[in-house]
Amino acid sequence: MDKIKMTTPLVEMDGDEMTRVLWRMIKEELLLPFIDLKTEYYDLGLEYRNQTDDKVTTESALATKKYGVAVKCATITPNAARVKEYNLKEMWKSPNGTIRAILDGTVFRAPIIVKGIEPYVKNWVKPITIARHAYGDVYKAAEMKIPAAGKCELVYTKEDGEEVRETIHEFKGPGIVQGMHNLNSSIESFARSCFNFAVDTKQDLWFSSKDTISKKYDHTFKDIFQEIYEKEYAGKFKELGIEYFYTLIDDAVARVIRSNGGYIWACKNYDGDVMSDMLATAFGSLSMMTSVLVSPEGNYEYEAAHGTVQRHYYKYLKGEETSTNPIATIFAWTGALRKRGELDGIKELMEFADKLEKACIDTVESGRMTKDLALITTLENAKALNTEDFIKAVREMLEASL
Ligand code: NAP
Ligand code: MG
Repeated sequence: MDKIKMTTPLVEMDGDEMTRVLWRMIKEELLLPFIDLKTEYYDLGLEYRNQTDDKVTTESALATKKYGVAVKCATITPNAARVKEYNLKEMWKSPNGTIRAILDGTVFRAPIIVKGIEPYVKNWVKPITIARHAYGDVYKAAEMKIPAAGKCELVYTKEDGEEVRETIHEFKGPGIVQGMHNLNSSIESFARSCFNFAVDTKQDLWFSSKDTISKKYDHTFKDIFQEIYEKEYAGKFKELGIEYFYTLIDDAVARVIRSNGGYIWACKNYDGDVMSDMLATAFGSLSMMTSVLVSPEGNYEYEAAHGTVQRHYYKYLKGEETSTNPIATIFAWTGALRKRGELDGIKELMEFADKLEKACIDTVESGRMTKDLALITTLENAKALNTEDFIKAVREMLEASL
């Protein structure tokens, strides 16, 4: 069989620990034998980030703007322990944060559904994709403890010095206060990313907030979404037979539980943080969650939602057998390859991505899976494989389908 040719490189962002080990295995067993893989390689492993004063992270994000599609391995976000462990020059920022700041995107997270790993909510037969706004609100807030009685105000000083004031509260005793903000430009980017992703994946889009209580703040989110939808997307949605609607977050939560899945749920920053953890757990396993960053300009960066699986890596270093689930990382590759194929008009690449995903699902459904899934599966004949044997089993399944 001839290897599939590519015309434009993928931006490849390598990472850390156990996922770096998986990265190499996936390439060797599941990609390189079948594709003339073209990538522009950036090593985001912590050692090289430290060596380059983290410039490599910025370069990889700029390359994503240039080529349009990236695939990223999980990376360590340094904390004090990591600074010591890796003897770092400084506590470098989260690579995902840096990349997101450059691409200005929205993160979409969706579970991979397989028979035998059943969601806690029985009627969820299709994935539910969460889109979380990643700027502002409570994550960029100013807070104060109010020690005793006194008046708290919001004060906006215009550039010409004129002031606009609003009383928050006349405190009679101690309390707390918080001031948060968002930007119309950021909300607009968020909305466009969501509408583009809905069009791209041909799924309905829901957006929820608490506009009945927050008549200016949340209502602005609602208005911006509505305006952009009507001006730029209504026609396309109609053509594709998909729907956009806004609903109060209380109503959204109830509808999500009753639904069959198969849509995108756009959430404000805090709602998205909380709801994505709820959905990941309710769908069964963090190791089966995919994640893609979509910029308003239409750049895509695919990755797994989980981290570098540090605990397994330390076992691996000691020569112990590990059973780390590579599926979300494989789906990061297939997502990126499919998008590259779509943009460059390479049908074989898109078909290969479909087949590799199907091979993963079929392998699990045949009862061969990694330990994390074997522990929660409802299949009776389940067998827990180590990482390597699982990847080999996927390769056999893939080869049979090619
Ligand atoms: P983690 O890597 O997500 O792993 C937490 C636990 O979840 C693991 O110990 C394991 O449980 C289970 N798990 C996660 N992925 C799995 C997989 N593919 N297969 C089997 N089990 C899996 O989180 P962490 O250990 O808290 O974080 C490690 C590093 O990852 C941190 O330095 C953090 O900064 C980084 N991180 C990076 C990203 C990213 O790059 N996107 C995201 C999150 C965290 P058991 O140990 O019980 O088997
Ligand atoms: Mg969270």
